[in-house]
Amino acid sequence: MTTDRIASYVAENAARFLDELTALVSIPSISTLPEHREDVRRAAEFLVAELQGTLGMSTVELIETAGHPLVYAEWINLPDKPTVLIYGHYDVQPVDPLELWLSPPFEPVIKGDDLFARGAVDDKGPMFATLKAIQSLIHTEGTLPVNIRLLIEGEEESGGKSVEAFVSAHAEHLRADCALVLDTAMVAKGVPTISYGLRGMAYAEIVARGAEHDLHSGVYGGIGPNPLQALAWVLADLKGRDGRINLPGLYEMMQPLSDEERAALARQSELQEKELLSAAGFREMSGESGFCVAERASARPTFEVHGIIGGFTGEGAKTVIPAEAKAKVSLRLVPGQNPAVVLALLSKRVQELTSPGITLEVRPLHVGDPVLLGLDSPVLKTAARALEQEFGHEVAFLREGGSIPVVALFDQLLKVPVVLIGFSLPDDNIHAPNEKFHIPNYYAAIRVVAGFLKRLGAKAEAE
Ligand SMILES: [Zn+2]
Repeated sequence: MTTDRIASYVAENAARFLDELTALVSIPSISTLPEHREDVRRAAEFLVAELQGTLGMSTVELIETAGHPLVYAEWINLPDKPTVLIYGHYDVQPVDPLELWLSPPFEPVIKGDDLFARGAVDDKGPMFATLKAIQSLIHTEGTLPVNIRLLIEGEEESGGKSVEAFVSAHAEHLRADCALVLDTAMVAKGVPTISYGLRGMAYAEIVARGAEHDLHSGVYGGIGPNPLQALAWVLADLKGRDGRINLPGLYEMMQPLSDEERAALARQSELQEKELLSAAGFREMSGESGFCVAERASARPTFEVHGIIGGFTGEGAKTVIPAEAKAKVSLRLVPGQNPAVVLALLSKRVQELTSPGITLEVRPLHVGDPVLLGLDSPVLKTAARALEQEFGHEVAFLREGGSIPVVALFDQLLKVPVVLIGFSLPDDNIHAPNEKFHIPNYYAAIRVVAGFLKRLGAKAEAE
């Protein structure tokens, strides 16, 4: 049987596949940091070379954008078969705090069954598995079961503006019957997971300004405006200790959760809580009361402070009152909440929270729409069957807490069913020090993608 041939091929080439992924994760393609611009390009070029070496790819392009390049490839040879648009990203998050890494983030190491490196699981490993699945099919069958368009971006971790512009401008050219994305999580090891919802994102910087220059607290203490203190007041007011976000209008915009969905979230909540607690090493969940952990983690909006910049942070003591302070904040948004509207609410609220002598500004950094995908599409069922064959376990359908902005565009603009198959584990340290990819999930992802494409092709034949 074909799936056995694929499995044997993956087994025979396991070491090479891992070496190639190791080479890819060695490239520090941090999209948000300008000093890594050339590294980001190098990762794109790596993928272009990889695809040019893939038999039968008719188009392989590195597409220049206003930001980082896109990688696009096509294999369109079967007029009677469906076309699958595969999306992934080759850029990674910054590595700080570096001192918490047990090995350097871009010098990949294998410990037990895990490959440790920044980007190993988000998203280089799963994304690269889709390429390896295509290659495995071509090598074992001499052809692909369906047509493929492959779109890989380099700005997912920094807003994804270029891919959105590209998809908007080339919607007709990107025509497909479904989209496949491997950039989400599994509920737990061995539990195959399909995500059907993603949260949106509104990210901003709040800037507080006081005097024209830094002040001496012996002279101005008690009378001068302190932007750090002003910022602390703003942040404390924006989210209460009860976990409620104090942004009038925010909760009113939410699309209500159905009773069925709430019950499904409640059923998986205990397992999710256990996995997430043990993965992160803290004792008690925080957040809104009245909602289970699974609901808070995926179906409620969030407000988080990511960093506060300002004042004196060196060794010893310096009695400065800083002239400026900044905070990086974001809201994860759920269906119904428009990111641009939320940023406007945030801006308005922040202005209301100002204090004497302080000016406040909200600078939007990036936005992404939330998305809720239909659970009834036939391609989802095909994907679930391919997953069940690999894992021998029923598929969990999950709303994911994270955001992949381009998925909303696939859904709304391309109007294709999107299949989000997860291969990251709760303890994979995504966006954190010691990110890793569970290597068995790499090979599973290759087999699952190959199996999914095979099934789609066979289904088209049967129809
Ligand atoms: Zn990702």
